[in-house]
Amino acid sequence: MAIEWDMETDLVIVGAGGCGLMAAFVAAKLGVELILLEKDSRLGCNTDLASGSIAAWGTRFQKAAGIAGTPEQMADDIMRKNHGQADRAIVLELCRRTLDVVDTLVDEVGLDLTLNTDAGRFGHSFLRMHNPKGKSGARITRALHEALARFPNATFADRTPGAGLVTDASGAVIGVRAGERGEQSIGATKVILACDGFGANREMLRRYILDIADVECIGAQGNTGDGIRWGLELGAAVEHMSGHQGHGYVIPGYGTRLVPEVPLLGAVMVNADGARFDREDQGYSELAGVLLKQPRGVAYMFFDQWIYDVVLPNEHFRDTVAAGALKSAATIEELAGAFQLDPQRVRATFDEYYANVKAGRDPLGRETFGKLLEAPFYGAMITGTLAHTQGGLKVDVHGRVLRIDGSVIPNLYAGGGTAAGVSGDGASGYLSGNGLLTALGFGLIAAEHAAAALRAG
Ligand SMILES: Cc1cc2nc3c(=O)[nH]c(=O)nc-3n(C[C@H](O)[C@H](O)[C@H](O)COP(=O)(O)OP(=O)(O)OC[C@H]3O[C@@H](n4cnc5c(N)ncnc54)[C@H](O)[C@@H]3O)c2cc1C
Repeated sequence: MAIEWDMETDLVIVGAGGCGLMAAFVAAKLGVELILLEKDSRLGCNTDLASGSIAAWGTRFQKAAGIAGTPEQMADDIMRKNHGQADRAIVLELCRRTLDVVDTLVDEVGLDLTLNTDAGRFGHSFLRMHNPKGKSGARITRALHEALARFPNATFADRTPGAGLVTDASGAVIGVRAGERGEQSIGATKVILACDGFGANREMLRRYILDIADVECIGAQGNTGDGIRWGLELGAAVEHMSGHQGHGYVIPGYGTRLVPEVPLLGAVMVNADGARFDREDQGYSELAGVLLKQPRGVAYMFFDQWIYDVVLPNEHFRDTVAAGALKSAATIEELAGAFQLDPQRVRATFDEYYANVKAGRDPLGRETFGKLLEAPFYGAMITGTLAHTQGGLKVDVHGRVLRIDGSVIPNLYAGGGTAAGVSGDGASGYLSGNGLLTALGFGLIAAEHAAAALRAG
């Protein structure tokens, strides 16, 4: 019996974050009629919360700065960090397309991107982070929304959650249910799931990532794993469900965070006993778990005026300053005292650290030392949190969702946090930039593939 749809379209995209907006922009540009459903933009998405650091190779910005790098090198970095757990063909395809992602954002969307030359990132073999002004991911979504609004063939439906998928007798996806109670039915030839992961779903966290299930999630609260659950209902395979990005720079009680440049430029971290306990220049994802194991589950990041000035243009750092989350002092001892740490113990820790750095070594394995700190000093208490999940629906290089037997679920795509990412299991496989790589990359790839399939009829 034919379904009586409330409306019909070529393509429905569920979720208007980085992946969904990129997919919508690319599909709209290719002439596809589409509806972009968003649960509630007032909740914000992870792309809004991000620093907007987009990893890419071969861009005009890198060429101008004399930075050479290839997609193969990027893929090698990602595979090294995820301990070889991701599908290299997918990783490489995503890396290759980063040049197109940057060109699309700059030339067609009108986003103002620059290469971040302040500091590299742990595990990056060449400088590759491209940021919007203020290092604010919200500028990416804003620019994409504005660009999408130019297309009459694209409809953005805010406060209209996707509520489930509709399939025919053969198991092919033929539409979605939408609205708070799934009261609307939308017939669609293709569907892209771009509703991120399950960082805001405690039940799913307890099931898949027990060790961080009760840790604060600083990610968007609308990301409750809906797309992953709908895929599972259709027999989709899932991968790396324990994969996630932890965040080790969050300042408890203030809702703000430090930024990765702070330790990479030279900040020093001590615990509540006033001792250094691990390398400061490690990935911020795995740092989260390291911090949670320290006394009181916190540490103290000390830096100086020079670092403060370098990172001040970052809007997230400005929020931290404005929130009053930093303490400052003329000496290390005074700063330690301001955090109720033993000043003499912290002084001794710094003296030992400086002596080691001058000798060109660090017993804790730090490799990026930055500059030695000079007065005046700043500090923040930091703790570990969950940023977002990285496991999800298994997809192929085109973003098509796969069943457990490897067959394609017809007409269904997934990207960003809804798809299995490229970070493997746990927290330590996340390499800085992996999040937007799969969001913007799969948004572009899935939209192009869906548009081509629609054209081919
Ligand atoms: C603090 C922080 C900083 C980060 N910094 C970076 C960075 O600098 N670089 C980087 O590469 N990665 C970064 N990441 C990771 C990156 O932000 C995410 O991986 C990426 O934004 C995910 O994009 P997405 O489109 O999948 O999801 P999102 O951008 O989260 O968008 C998902 C959207 O789907 C909506 N939604 C959910 N369920 C439904 C439903 N049922 N119906 C309709 N809509 C729905 C949500 O409301 C949301 O708007 C960061 C993450 C955090 C939390």
